[in-house]
Amino acid sequence: MSLSEFSLIQRFFTQKKSRNACTRLGVGDDCALLSIPAGHELAITTDTMVENVHFFADTDPEQLGHKLLTVNLSDLASMGAKPVSVLLALTIPNVNEPWLSAFAKGFMDLAERYEVDLVGGDTTSGPLTLTVQALGVVPQGQALRRSAAKVGDFICLTGPIGDAGLGLKINEGYGCADPEPALRQFNKPEPQIDAGLAIRECANACIDISDGLTSDLGHILKQSQVGACIYWQALPLSDAVQTYIEETGDWRMPLVAGDDYQLCFTVSPDHIGQLTIDCVKIGVIESEPGLRLNKSGIIEFLEVKGFEHFS
Ligand code: ADP
Ligand code: MG
Repeated sequence: MSLSEFSLIQRFFTQKKSRNACTRLGVGDDCALLSIPAGHELAITTDTMVENVHFFADTDPEQLGHKLLTVNLSDLASMGAKPVSVLLALTIPNVNEPWLSAFAKGFMDLAERYEVDLVGGDTTSGPLTLTVQALGVVPQGQALRRSAAKVGDFICLTGPIGDAGLGLKINEGYGCADPEPALRQFNKPEPQIDAGLAIRECANACIDISDGLTSDLGHILKQSQVGACIYWQALPLSDAVQTYIEETGDWRMPLVAGDDYQLCFTVSPDHIGQLTIDCVKIGVIESEPGLRLNKSGIIEFLEVKGFEHFS
């Protein structure tokens, strides 16, 4: 006999004890209760993943649980917020215990690493749809926003881009000599939480790269009413991504592919010396609107478009 809704929640989605001081009450009542530390504000975000839209039907459930949480924690990271709790709205076609157990493991293992409590959610039957709401705390007025880039700022990345995009190409049949790192980035990306906290004091604007660098940096440019030039030679690309570009000529892939979850942030030249994390300078914010790519002295004008639903 399959598990009832309540035993399913009890078995897979109820923690034995809470992991952080903000949680006053977790799963089990009509609402969770949280306390916010004095002098802080709440950062809240939600993201949904739908089968056959965001992930393949045969996706490994443990990796799916991990990735679902990553895409949400990544939004907190990009604001410089410290994650404290999450809610999980789960719509599943049936109760498949091995699937649920693996999914919950991927989700809970990542939550535990960042001391995030799963404090509630909803469980219903229907086409596989996974929604998380994530809550984080940030000292009042200190969240990193898309609208805060200034002319003259350096544009930086916390790590390489294009590997998740290459992972998708490999899934679609591209033959890669060393596919594992790209597949890992595509299937099990890490949220850059520590980086978001580390840059909060000195960065101006920040965004996480979920839809591709040109699209996401484009949001910063639009909301900050500035433009930018990035340098091809400076882009952090793995050997596998470089080989892919040499073999296919598709140099745009690392600029437009999503799912890398690195942070792209801007920092003034006066503050760049205060950065305490490894990151890569890829360009500068300019007053002239638009996004330009300097490719060995030749300027390419980049369309600031990434993946969009409904288009
Ligand atoms: P209600 O009917 O009052 O909305 P539910 O019966 O949906 O409450 O849920 C019972 C408790 O279990 C609530 O505390 C809810 O937040 C929690 N919950 C439900 N589904 C999940 C889930 N997938 N993960 C974590 N907590 C859940
Ligand atoms: Mg309910």
